[in-house]
Amino acid sequence: MSSADFREPWFRLEGESARTFEQEAATEIAAGHELHGLALAAVAKCEGCDSVVFRLSDDTFAIVHLSWIRKPEAPPWPRTTRLGGFIAVEMAMDQHEH
Ligand SMILES: [Zn+2]
Repeated sequence: MSSADFREPWFRLEGESARTFEQEAATEIAAGHELHGLALAAVAKCEGCDSVVFRLSDDTFAIVHLSWIRKPEAPPWPRTTRLGGFIAVEMAMDQHEH
């Protein structure tokens, strides 16, 4: 990821704030979910909804709309958009709407 700040409504997640979203994602993503078995590192959060950009342990990215139910979700939830590389991430962030 570049060190530049993200465009609104996205803001960078680091340190403790990133851990919060990584832990909730790990809780919600159950066996059978397309991201199950991958480690997720939180990169950015939308300030207008619960969408979070994660870098995955296979070096791809995903935008996950967390449910905040604090227990395993029923796949395919939490709703997930997988993105191959950072250019795809930037496009998805630019096109993100509510
Ligand atoms: Zn949003």
